[in-house]
Amino acid sequence: MLEALLLIGGTRRAANGGRRFERRDPLTGEVASIAAAAVASDALAAADAAAAALPAWAALGPSARRALLLKAADVFEAWQERLVQAMVLETGATADWAAFNTRLAANMLREAASMCTQIQGDVIPSERNACLSITLRVPAGVVLGIAPWNAPIILGVRSIALPLACGNTVVLKSSELCPMTHALIGDVLQEAGFAPGVVNVVSNAPEDAQDVVQALIAHPAVRRVSFTGSTRVGRIIAQLAASELKPVVLELGGKAPLVVLDDADLDAAVDAAIFGAFFNQGQICMSTERIVVQEAVADAFTEKFGARARALKAGNPRTGKVQLGSLISEQAVKRLRELLDDARAKGAVLLAGGEADGAVMQATALDRVTPDMRIYHEESFGPVVSIVRVRDDAEAIRVANDTEYGLTAGVFSRDGARGLTVARQIESGMCHINGPTVHDEAPMPFGGVKASGYGRLGGRAGVQEFTELRWVTIETGQPHYPF
Ligand code: NAD
Repeated sequence: MLEALLLIGGTRRAANGGRRFERRDPLTGEVASIAAAAVASDALAAADAAAAALPAWAALGPSARRALLLKAADVFEAWQERLVQAMVLETGATADWAAFNTRLAANMLREAASMCTQIQGDVIPSERNACLSITLRVPAGVVLGIAPWNAPIILGVRSIALPLACGNTVVLKSSELCPMTHALIGDVLQEAGFAPGVVNVVSNAPEDAQDVVQALIAHPAVRRVSFTGSTRVGRIIAQLAASELKPVVLELGGKAPLVVLDDADLDAAVDAAIFGAFFNQGQICMSTERIVVQEAVADAFTEKFGARARALKAGNPRTGKVQLGSLISEQAVKRLRELLDDARAKGAVLLAGGEADGAVMQATALDRVTPDMRIYHEESFGPVVSIVRVRDDAEAIRVANDTEYGLTAGVFSRDGARGLTVARQIESGMCHINGPTVHDEAPMPFGGVKASGYGRLGGRAGVQEFTELRWVTIETGQPHYPF
């Protein structure tokens, strides 16, 4: 049995009052982990510990911070088996996806390490000749990271790696659906040698999420929030932070369109669509949720795509070779069934899948999806993809943008200029021409528009989110005053 304790000020401890909560394995229904159920006073203690550790961490030179982040990346790789085991049990993911999480998270730490020496200010010409005017980027303070379960190692690390590189200390609030996986991130960083209090991890029972998060956001030392999760909760976080006048980065839901133009390489488009729609059972914010295909190639595309989707295997990844593992819960499958029933009752054609067993669902594709169907608008966050047929480029762009979300998109065309012309008109934070909608690299400015959130994580764009920009001048002559 895995047991996740709180990590506060370098010490692992139970929650005040000793409450705990269980996370059950979605495949077997057995208890996967037991975690400390923090209350608001624990959250405040974590923020206090981070505040106490801040001056020393912020004052550490960039190469010392870089060395620790690089060490943490190595420990991540060395601990891969432990991390994979926890993630597989708590989320039902395949071991491949969990191992990929570990590798990308290690790279995110390395990328964050490389930014330690890139946190730069400017010299700005002043109207006053004898005044040197400079800007400095300084740590913001304590950063609260809140991460979901679907790519828990990547997203847990993403929420704190760059903030640490920028000289902030952090509190990671783990997901109730994978508290052990998130607790291990704290253990890795402790093992790498981060001083007590630089990294704190708090787990909470689902019913306490709002109290714990509210206490953390209201703590005076907490100066930034990095939230990754649903648009519904993102709105709550944005409002809590607004009332405290604290900036937030919001990485929220998506409904990514993959646009297949009539001159596309159809085999390449099918490969990207299969990967984008079904990797991690479609439980990725960047998952291809809508394939927007032009009529001229729609029959040829759906024939190839349907055959590939029907050949994918979903099942228990611990007992056989399958491409799709378990969803996060049977409840998620129930919701997908409702979306499927609604779409089919309104005329959608089932191209592949549709069957489910417990929390396992086959790769599912619906053709001829129209705006009156719920699945046209709602994020499915599962292995169910919609195909929408369109006449021309203008209609493809209109349909791609006909969503509240705007995280990522893809466009397939053999004509690079045409692909770029379409891509430029899609309202999304990220867009990939002749590539899948699922694409993430540590140095890139990851983020969305519209209901997919705001702010950018990764590289220089991320540094701006987690530092304060200060204007500083030094007078080298005698300034003139009017009186
Ligand atoms: P979620 O919003 O339910 O949970 C995320 C976090 O919010 C958890 O830590 C949870 O404890 C906390 N939370 C829940 N209710 C709260 C409340 N009332 N007040 C304060 N905090 C609360 O999301 P999830 O189901 O864990 O993750 C799936 C969602 O995340 C999907 O919509 C997906 O698209 C999105 N996501 C986005 C990105 C991105 O980078 N844009 C990445 C992964 C997932």
